[in-house]
Amino acid sequence: MEFKTLNFHPKVAAGIEAAGYVKPTPIQAQAIPTVIEGSDVMGLAQTGTGKTAAFVLPILNRLMQGGRGYVRALVIAPTRELAEQINESIITLGGQTGLRSVTVYGGVGINPQIAKLKRGVEIVVACPGRLLDHIGQGTIDLSRLDVLVLDEADQMFDMGFFPNIRKILKHLPRKRQTLLFSATMPNEIRRLAHEVLSDPVTVQVDTVAPAVTVSHALYPVEQHLKTPLLLELLQHTDTESVLVFTRTKHRAKRLGEKLEKSGYRAASLQGNLSQNRRQAALDGFRDGTFQILVATDIAARGIDVTQVSHVVNYDIPDTPEAYIHRIGRTGRAARTGDAFTMVTGEDKLMVRAIERVLGSPLERRSLDNFDYSVAAPRKDSEFARPPRQATQRRKPGGQGTAKSKASAPKRQQSGQGAPAAGGGQPASRSSRSRRPNRRPNSGL
Ligand code: AMP
Repeated sequence: MEFKTLNFHPKVAAGIEAAGYVKPTPIQAQAIPTVIEGSDVMGLAQTGTGKTAAFVLPILNRLMQGGRGYVRALVIAPTRELAEQINESIITLGGQTGLRSVTVYGGVGINPQIAKLKRGVEIVVACPGRLLDHIGQGTIDLSRLDVLVLDEADQMFDMGFFPNIRKILKHLPRKRQTLLFSATMPNEIRRLAHEVLSDPVTVQVDTVAPAVTVSHALYPVEQHLKTPLLLELLQHTDTESVLVFTRTKHRAKRLGEKLEKSGYRAASLQGNLSQNRRQAALDGFRDGTFQILVATDIAARGIDVTQVSHVVNYDIPDTPEAYIHRIGRTGRAARTGDAFTMVTGEDKLMVRAIERVLGSPLERRSLDNFDYSVAAPRKDSEFARPPRQATQRRKPGGQGTAKSKASAPKRQQSGQGAPAAGGGQPASRSSRSRRPNRRPNSGL
């Protein structure tokens, strides 16, 4: 199928061209005609499938007809990063349409948002909490809404946003088009879908299986050897842009610092960074200032970094869904990507659960020249023991990425940057040397 056959308004078609999209992705091919027809849609699609444009394009098309200067489309998303990303898609795809959009989320001043809303916008992309603030203050009028989108509904549920969403729904006209997107469909989402959607059409791609372009591997290792193994992996793998996941904010921060000390352009992204620092880390990762971003699941939600070549699970995620969500960041929209997961003996059950969901066993690999026999340090250091569950406790002084940005060279070329302590610099594409081997008898 070609975009041409979807008969978009010429100004929307110009946006598709500006974005460089040639063919609709499978979710777009399924969803766009249905949304254009005006049906409610339940979209089962994970990030990386092109789901954003699947709702943005038909919304822009719809808004080309009818009034301007009041809110006609509302997209609710779980995180500010995702909200920004959706807004960027709207700006790119709607560049010729004259339609205006605004993002609405907490952690930044409310007044600029109020000013934009006052000047008149047709599209609002919002996180639930701040949107309710605007509703409470009377600074947003949603009474003439045409379309509502609930994006990443499963994440919104996980983050405890459903009560707020139900409050928001009370301020929306009953007669509207509603689109709900979710990577997974647990009972709670089904219930919400039943409440908000009327006679929906379900569109679905890759419900559980991650993008086929991603190759997965497990690296069995003892807890205290994870960091040296990561350094070794980075040195001997052809990586462009690596997203590393840790279980806790503290581990993300510490690992980011360790990687930086080893000569990598690395930053960490944790839930309690200020919005400016989060944005600096994300922008730096996107523009290549940082090659490696270390993040927790919550902090990484909504990250769209199309060029992510590798996802490394430094700590295995808590659920198979989280695994699929994490690796959704690599192999996006038909690019190829690798997903490495470090596993210890304690991760056996989760490995089995992930393999069940993927429908096949994951390949076990080991590195040839890596010394797996190094004993754990006597001292009970952070990285020598399994991570604790994330806590809500705030640490005084905040946690930073600004330092790493300031000291990071722009692009680390061969021969530049600090030599690595036990790691060295990332190998260039041509210097890929030892390929990791299969490790058939790992016990995991
Ligand atoms: P999403 O799943 O919406 O986060 O999109 C994943 C990535 O795919 C984004 O970087 C989009 O810009 C890109 N993308 C979306 N639709 C297409 C398309 N039809 N052709 C090529 N890339 C696309």
